[in-house]
Amino acid sequence: MIHLTDDIQYLTGVGPNRANLLKTELGIFTIYDLINFLPFRYIDRSKFYSIAELAPSQAAVQIKGRFVSKQIIGTGAKAYLKAIFTDGTGRIELTWFKGIKWIDPSIKAGIDYVVFGKVADFHGILSMTHPDIEELAKFINHSQAEFQGVYPSTEKTKKANITGKVMRTIMENAFVNLSPSEIKETLPQYLLEKYQLPDLNTTLRTLHMPSNLNQISKAQLRIKFEELFWVQLVMAMRKQKETETIKGHLFIRSNDKLLPTFYKEHLPFPLTRAQIRVMSEIRKDVESGKHMNRLVQGDVGSGKTLVAVLAMLMAIDNGYQACMMAPTEILAQQHAKSIQELLKDLPIRVAVLTGSTPKKTRTEIAEGLLDGSIHLIVGTHALLEDTVQFKNIGLSVIDEQHRFGVAQRAKLWSKNEIQPHVLVMTATPIPRTLAMTLYGDLDVSVIDELPPGRKPIKTTMLRDTQRQKMYDLMRNQIALGRQVYIVYPLIQESERMDFKDLEAGYEIITQIFPAPKYKTIMVHGKMKPAEKDEAMQKFASGEAQIMVATTVIEVGVNVPNATVMVIESSERFGLSQLHQLRGRVGRGADMSYCLLMAGNKLTKEGQSRLEAMVQTTDGFQLAELDMKLRGPGDIEGTQQSGLPISFKLANLARDGQILNLARNEAFAIVAKDPSLTNAENAHLKAGLKQRNTNTVSWRDIS
Ligand code: ADP
Ligand code: MG
Repeated sequence: MIHLTDDIQYLTGVGPNRANLLKTELGIFTIYDLINFLPFRYIDRSKFYSIAELAPSQAAVQIKGRFVSKQIIGTGAKAYLKAIFTDGTGRIELTWFKGIKWIDPSIKAGIDYVVFGKVADFHGILSMTHPDIEELAKFINHSQAEFQGVYPSTEKTKKANITGKVMRTIMENAFVNLSPSEIKETLPQYLLEKYQLPDLNTTLRTLHMPSNLNQISKAQLRIKFEELFWVQLVMAMRKQKETETIKGHLFIRSNDKLLPTFYKEHLPFPLTRAQIRVMSEIRKDVESGKHMNRLVQGDVGSGKTLVAVLAMLMAIDNGYQACMMAPTEILAQQHAKSIQELLKDLPIRVAVLTGSTPKKTRTEIAEGLLDGSIHLIVGTHALLEDTVQFKNIGLSVIDEQHRFGVAQRAKLWSKNEIQPHVLVMTATPIPRTLAMTLYGDLDVSVIDELPPGRKPIKTTMLRDTQRQKMYDLMRNQIALGRQVYIVYPLIQESERMDFKDLEAGYEIITQIFPAPKYKTIMVHGKMKPAEKDEAMQKFASGEAQIMVATTVIEVGVNVPNATVMVIESSERFGLSQLHQLRGRVGRGADMSYCLLMAGNKLTKEGQSRLEAMVQTTDGFQLAELDMKLRGPGDIEGTQQSGLPISFKLANLARDGQILNLARNEAFAIVAKDPSLTNAENAHLKAGLKQRNTNTVSWRDIS
């Protein structure tokens, strides 16, 4: 008998060499690790296909027949082995480029073989490259399982011949020698019953030694549910803990004086229904005595700034200060300007603090914040400096939150003894499932509606060879008095090359659109802030019609007269970034255009991304798609989170329903038993402790 904590080295079929590789390459040290190392897919060997029914692009299939001929073609490193195989219904070519030495002698005439591989079709000739072959007699002898798990592997494990077959044998050995009682159930019994999930012992045995597809999918469901359940239980506990321990400032409605005046007299337009809904969600939080930690997601242009302003007015009405932090100088200045404009007739002192604020002004601001005479401050990272201290901050708003590191945010809301309420805003919509996982302990509000009267943006994808169309559109729009952005990708690793692209692009544009008839400015990240501002100013004022820029303009620039966004090498951008860039146009009353320029070599994924951009302008839809195409780990803003967003089996792009169930169950448990002290929850508490997820909490750091 073996035990879960045993070293894998002593398991039959492993030994010191394999054990070493399993440990270093796959992280498998103990029997526990081993049986929790799961196949990520299964091969169906339950059926033999006839060659006549084979079609290309099928998953790997299994056929049975004899070799007609074999031939080694070419010499030396370029030699390859080609064999013709038939089952009486048709012929197929089998090819090997490697391992010819072994394969060649194992191919004999007059014997039945089983061949297993993926079918390709080259000019009407069916073929398989590097199929598995085995003599039928031997194949039957060791009675292959019909469904075989495929395990993750690395170059080194492959080289050492730790094949799927080896892994399956090792697993079988483990289970044969492991008493079922060793594998203790981790989920509450009533959940297994409610969702008809197999127990853990059955689940693991099934996943490693399955006998039918239905069983496999039930076992996978159980693992997915469990993976998501633990994360949500952590989130539920954190949220609960905060509700108990952190008090929030009370913003009492009857203290509101400025807010009603603003609504009645200064609000430039009616709020959208979505804005109203989010406001009431915020209102509920700040009236409750709880500490608000809310994420507001809203597409570009959905009017998040106004929501932030209204929330800040609530704080100010109640005698508190409010601050708003933005990721760039330009954005901070723009926010300050529009907020000053909105509040100009109200007795509110608004200040702005950025890296370029002169020393003298800084000192004045520091004083004003400390004595409370400044009510509202907008700024960049400069707000985080220790010299910035508030008299009484009640609300911190963080715009485009994904641009800030966790520590930076934490610093902002630790500026007072009692934490200010926190409103984080993001214009990079993230899929709901990802939000529930990443920000599962925050409350999430969604502004899912754009203010009325927005003209849609017409998006077109153009190949480099169709550049004339781009110039035509630019010329027409500029003749109508409109302005144009041309954006080049800027990727850190090859910054210099990208910069060359940008400069070359600028050269060409100024030749095709020559001065003095046209004025073109160039903006990039290497410019000094003052230079950049000057250039931006020329564009904002309409003096320049064309801006050639890197993605520095991605966030927040607002020039309603700009109607054309050209994105160069658009295949190099992620979907959410493309969406952000496109959001720079379509801000005025005029029809706007987005041109996605693409090189002639496009990957399939690149093509799907650009096609999605052409088809929809809905940021949430695009975010869902982005996650499907690139996986949750590549979505902007998630990399640095350190949170478990990739799982062994659960997939946030596909398993939204399971996530919902898991979340509801986890939160229900914590609602009934906040610190999991009831006996029935004892093993959940222990499970949490054991998992002790090394993750950052948005709440713990605050
Ligand atoms: P974002 O959500 O991208 O931050 P903004 O807050 O910058 O969007 O708003 C985009 C534009 O929409 C601004 O010009 C703003 O004045 C305008 N806007 C906001 N709310 C409304 C509304 N309810 N009705 C009409 N226009 C609005
Ligand atoms: Mg904004």
